[in-house]
Amino acid sequence: MAEKFDVIVIGGGPGGYVAAIRAAQLGLKTACVEKWLNKDGKSVLGGTCLNVGCMPSKALLDSSHKYEDAKHTYDVHGINIKDVSMDVSTMLARKDQIVKNLTSGVATLFKANGVTWFEGVGKLLAGKKVEFTNHAGKSEVLEAENVILATGSVPVEIPPAPLTEGVIVDSTGALDFAEAPKRLGVIGAGVIGLELGSVWNRLGSEVTVLEAQDKFLHLVDQQVAKEAAKQFKKQNIDVRLGARVMGTEVKGKEVTVSFTDSEGEKTITFDKLIVAVGRRPYTENLLSGDCGVNLDERGFIFVNDRCATDAPGVYAIGDVVRGPMLAHKASEEGVMVAERIANHKAQVNYDCIPSVIYTHPEIAWVGKSEEELKASGDKYNVGSFPFAAIGRAMAANETAGFVKIIADAETDRILGASVIGPSAGDLVQQVVIAMEFGSSAEDLGMMVFSHPTLSEAVHEAALGVNGHAIHKANRKRK
Ligand code: FAD
Ligand code: AMP
Repeated sequence: MAEKFDVIVIGGGPGGYVAAIRAAQLGLKTACVEKWLNKDGKSVLGGTCLNVGCMPSKALLDSSHKYEDAKHTYDVHGINIKDVSMDVSTMLARKDQIVKNLTSGVATLFKANGVTWFEGVGKLLAGKKVEFTNHAGKSEVLEAENVILATGSVPVEIPPAPLTEGVIVDSTGALDFAEAPKRLGVIGAGVIGLELGSVWNRLGSEVTVLEAQDKFLHLVDQQVAKEAAKQFKKQNIDVRLGARVMGTEVKGKEVTVSFTDSEGEKTITFDKLIVAVGRRPYTENLLSGDCGVNLDERGFIFVNDRCATDAPGVYAIGDVVRGPMLAHKASEEGVMVAERIANHKAQVNYDCIPSVIYTHPEIAWVGKSEEELKASGDKYNVGSFPFAAIGRAMAANETAGFVKIIADAETDRILGASVIGPSAGDLVQQVVIAMEFGSSAEDLGMMVFSHPTLSEAVHEAALGVNGHAIHKANRKRK
């Protein structure tokens, strides 16, 4: 007889593994089917995020930032270091060790919570059955009361730039360059392109980013995008907007990219080219024809706002469904689905999901941008505050950027925030908390913030919404 579970999760990334752990915590007999094999051919959990996404990219961003800091900014503190150099192989080994620690940590959590891990491929059959095929090709059918699909996403490939061993790579390949390429091209000025371009730029690559859109960071507050463009220019990252890649020609160890921009057709030759044009939902061989789950027109698994698919008892979460492709969004959906299966009330507040770009300076935002509010015709007030006027930012030599908070003109309820500057991701999180509690800008302005901290920029921006900032001249209200 087929082994039966309360919950089977297919996919062990931050959506799936979190859903499995929460379901097990709630007393449900839970299994997770995960097929990932790492570089050593070993089965691992953690999905894109832990293996080739959030975590390895942040390890490289931190290493390369320390190197750049030591090389260019320590002297202002009076620290003189001669001959700073970077051993790329040590940096990559550190990154690989962090990945190992994190992925084995998830396996330990599975054991501790009693989640059964099926190492191999899962396929949803009709009637909440799951066909499991192990890495040796042996199949069996498992049964479940509930199935959670969490198969994530993979990089988009574009016909003009097919991946070519060692020369044209996707984000995964860009985590493992043995040395900084002299001339590095990046297609796509999105989050991943800017982060990985920054890593190798800091280590000495001449970086050119080709972006088809005319607007830089078109989804981000445009005041923030303008400041970001200024900072990247200072770092010699050459971002070409309105540049649509039409073709590539690989000759030996280099690649010539042809693209069109407002001036016509152009070519540039690079030693490596990263294709970072986005990710697409991954559902290959996941669904049997009669399983009852449908896809939307863009290939995502169709779900409602509680992540239920069209098949009763089958849910889908994370990158494989609509919404931002972010690890924390995937995890929160995983928790919500596990709790609802266990008859708890739970939901995800999709209006309050923060996004972070881990460049230097960091860029982070939540809620509505000024452009969105302008377009909708809603009335709002804005408060902003520059890090240049924050004592702690001066002490840290990190004065670029600002905090911007937007609130409803009538109710003063905070509608959104954007930060560019030091620890932007952590600072925007303070506004996320305020927004979750329905805070007004005045409420946030009345809270006590430690001095001296970077958070004081959040405090002053909140006060500034109603013209009460202390450490800068407030805009006159009409
Ligand atoms: P995934 O993490 O993609 O996991 C899906 C899992 O399902 C995989 O392990 C896969 O092997 C498994 N699977 C698929 N099909 C099957 C099957 N049929 N049977 C068994 N197993 C299967 N997000 C952030 O929030 N912050 C960041 O800083 C960040 N940085 C990123 C940097 C890079 C370079 C990249 C590529 C992504 C980054 N992301 C970041 C995005 C983040 O990694 C994803 O949003 C997140 O991993 C999505 O989680 P998921 O569980 O939905 O899917
Ligand atoms: P993201 O979806 O945030 O990862 O960003 C991917 C970026 O790649 C988007 O800003 C796209 O406009 C850009 N892009 C997609 N296709 C091309 C192309 N052929 N040439 C240049 N940029 C592209």
